[in-house]
Amino acid sequence: MKIGVLAVQGAFAEHERILRKLGAECVQLRKKSDITDDIDGIVLPGGESTVQGKLLEELGMMDVLKDKIESGIPVLATCAGLILLSEEIVNDERRYLASLPVRVRRNAYGRQLGSFETTQSMKRIGSFKMTFIRAPYIESVGEGVEVMAEFDGKIIAVQYKNQLGMSFHPELGEDYGIHKYFLNMIE
Ligand code: GLN
Repeated sequence: MKIGVLAVQGAFAEHERILRKLGAECVQLRKKSDITDDIDGIVLPGGESTVQGKLLEELGMMDVLKDKIESGIPVLATCAGLILLSEEIVNDERRYLASLPVRVRRNAYGRQLGSFETTQSMKRIGSFKMTFIRAPYIESVGEGVEVMAEFDGKIIAVQYKNQLGMSFHPELGEDYGIHKYFLNMIE
């Protein structure tokens, strides 16, 4: 199984470490030609969505990635990755891959709660310790989007067909439950 990990900016190495431990092969997606037909899944890591989005555009990767995601390849998108996937960003004009029918709010927890940890229960995954870093949350979801987890009355994880989107960083920590779930979606 071969996972393409978007590696233009952000926390991609941590995802690769976990995926390799779980037995998956990883390829870094740094340019258009890295997005090959034999990739079985895609990870969009956390980082800075504005920087990642700009690079995807400049490197000519945006449309290829969007096509692949819309054709049904499993995607795990975390934090900035969730913002890239979202159809709507309530406090930003920009749109990127826009394949996930949700409305997100960027940097939604304000300055005081910039980074924090909490343990919440996730559908089909169970209790999970979550690290939030200047995270977005999901204000509302469109038809067919399943809410997988909430925290403090806000949606923080969803699944829509082949797309998994979460506000936090599941790659920071030693619980591989979310990555296992993602790999199972591929199998
Ligand atoms: N604040 C970042 C953004 O707006 C996301 C932060 C993260 O990925 N940890 O893109």
